[in-house]
Amino acid sequence: MIDAKTAEYRERYRRELIPEGYSGRLHFTLILGFVAAVLVIGVVRLEAIQPLEWLAVPLTFLYANLAEYLGHRFVMHRRRPGLGMIYERHTLQHHRFFTHRAMQFDSSDDFRAVLFPPMLMVFFATAFALPAGLVLTWLFSANVAWLFVMTAIGYYGSYEILHFAYHQDEDSWIMRLPGVERMRQLHLSHHDPSIMQTGNFNITWPICDVLFGTRVASVPDDVP
Ligand SMILES: [Zn+2]
Ligand SMILES: [Zn+2]
Repeated sequence: MIDAKTAEYRERYRRELIPEGYSGRLHFTLILGFVAAVLVIGVVRLEAIQPLEWLAVPLTFLYANLAEYLGHRFVMHRRRPGLGMIYERHTLQHHRFFTHRAMQFDSSDDFRAVLFPPMLMVFFATAFALPAGLVLTWLFSANVAWLFVMTAIGYYGSYEILHFAYHQDEDSWIMRLPGVERMRQLHLSHHDPSIMQTGNFNITWPICDVLFGTRVASVPDDVP
């Protein structure tokens, strides 16, 4: 049962922050479409990959896991100069909209409280992926650059899909996919206000949480 304070915040969020005509389904489709388009372009551009070039995939995966962890722990949960908007959108909005006692969306309009703004994808692509891709092409090869970009964008896609899944209804079929329920438990604990600043910063695979000793496996006792 959703408590009065969260219900009141949700109403305020919907009134003040969800623009007229917003479509949660379109928002999610745009993100998936962008990820799929980059993956398809990458597949077309890859050519005669050498065995060592494949190393770019696991290394980028681990790098993305670290970036997810550090970004969530030190930017999304701490106000940083110039990055206050990210802190606001995550700690002050996402964590108030969803608590461990109220994890589910009420309607597709609420997707806005989970998904990254589409403009941020354009920003990530031009500010990070493009320069990193150019440097990797120069240092190694175009294949390494494309494998980096594809793994990074694939990781971002998995972040959005998993985070979206965790805020679905508990009876949703998504929860029955292998591993999703266990990872959701970790994110559920992270939504407990007493834990959100200290544990479960990986939204996807809890590799860095284990490495840095911030994994909280127990579920809060007051989950309805
Ligand atoms: Zn969440
Ligand atoms: Zn958080």
